[in-house]
Amino acid sequence: MLWVSDNGIPDLGGDNEEETCYFDEVNQPVVICDGAYRKVTVELKIHKLAVTALLVEFDEDLTLGSDELSDLDEATPCVHAFRALRALIQRCVADAMLSGNIFADELLQHVYRWFCSPRSKLHDPALLRMLQKAMNKVLALLLREFRNSGSTIIFANYSKVILDTGKADLNAAQTYCDSLLETLQKSTLFEWIDLEPTQFWHSLLFMDQYNYGGIQSRPDQTSDDSPVDIVSRWNIADSLPKETQDHFTLIVSEFLYLPWKFAQDQASKRANVRDDDSCTPSITAAAAETFQSSIESYFTHKLLKIVSAIVLQVREKGKSHALELIKHVCAVLELDQNVQPEIQIMKKNLLKLVHVREFASEAQFQKCSIFFTLPNVICSYCNDCRDIDLRENSALLSQEWRCSVPECGQPYDREMMEASLLQIARQRERTCHLQDLVCLKCNQIKAAHLAEHCGCAGSFRLKESAIVFKDKMEVLLNIAVHQRFELLKECVSWILELS
Ligand SMILES: [Zn+2]
Ligand SMILES: [Zn+2]
Repeated sequence: MLWVSDNGIPDLGGDNEEETCYFDEVNQPVVICDGAYRKVTVELKIHKLAVTALLVEFDEDLTLGSDELSDLDEATPCVHAFRALRALIQRCVADAMLSGNIFADELLQHVYRWFCSPRSKLHDPALLRMLQKAMNKVLALLLREFRNSGSTIIFANYSKVILDTGKADLNAAQTYCDSLLETLQKSTLFEWIDLEPTQFWHSLLFMDQYNYGGIQSRPDQTSDDSPVDIVSRWNIADSLPKETQDHFTLIVSEFLYLPWKFAQDQASKRANVRDDDSCTPSITAAAAETFQSSIESYFTHKLLKIVSAIVLQVREKGKSHALELIKHVCAVLELDQNVQPEIQIMKKNLLKLVHVREFASEAQFQKCSIFFTLPNVICSYCNDCRDIDLRENSALLSQEWRCSVPECGQPYDREMMEASLLQIARQRERTCHLQDLVCLKCNQIKAAHLAEHCGCAGSFRLKESAIVFKDKMEVLLNIAVHQRFELLKECVSWILELS
């Protein structure tokens, strides 16, 4: 028997009611394999992963890692609820399939939203965790399937996969992708997963899901002479000084475009001379060589000019601005494994201009250390699910939050966003208060309650230092101020005053 409760915590008749609150925020898996992908890559949107995960009953040989097996056994309190849900979903699937019941279909579309929203009746965080475990398994199996079929995984999470098809031209990649999806449809495990190719990239430079650039392919692109779309989404560039941001974008775009153009020209040249029987050397090797030499002849020269101009222009801050630009540009260009040594030489030469040594700590690029993403933001109009990156310098802060699907673009439910942020703030405070103490010397967690010193005579420190906690809270405060979330602001500033 289950009771409906209003506050997002399951009513278990007073039993272990508290326990569920002590888990940290959900950490969803992401697979990131950064690099430069100069073959055609495809972005697939995953639909109905949750439904699949609910339907699949894992038997032992499907389960990845036997230690996780215990999570799905009878000991888990919500296992019966999970079974009941599975039965419901199975009936919905049957209804939708056999009689074309639109309500059953709607239910299937929104089942993950029901799991995620604390406002759902009968919401239980434990159920969500259980579902996510099953989703992790399905996702892992799906990725294994992709790898077996010969593609490289660049990025994957619950809602999106980016694959390197390894094909040089778009048509071949499309055919490959179609046949891959067809095979998946036929397997019983992935019968319910819907994979929708949303985007093909001719060339992609990928750091993580918030930092990438690429040459997009357009469906209507017919002639070779039409202008290309170069997309540039680099969150790291937001922290660059304003006057250097354009240089950054330009250099990175050229880094993408020039090798691609070269390969394109070579391919068309080869197509023209194919009638002759002359033996053409492998074009990929030639392209790689030309590209490597262009780092020195083209990019280094260009950057040297830009950097010295910046140093001269802005007198007092010129050096630090130039240094930031060098670090950022090199970090991005280094993503291409093939030219890494050349880029390192270039970086060394550039650093000489600002009188910084190559391995000095100030010359090392560091991504913004405070990661903060709000997971599972689901658009209530089009059901698109995504994680929002809310780091301090993110441009997202200053604008209204809207759905990222181009055809939709509806603003998100602000009240719901604030509620989930508030929940995270409270959760973080709670975990901070309940954290363990760690010995400074032996790094063991303190076991005895009242001991002042560890067994090894070392003294204790907090596992999460006060500064880290404060930084995390300030990110939240920043969001609250920018988005005018009054309740969140009050709550977070109260926590900050105390700490
Ligand atoms: Zn939407
Ligand atoms: Zn110790």
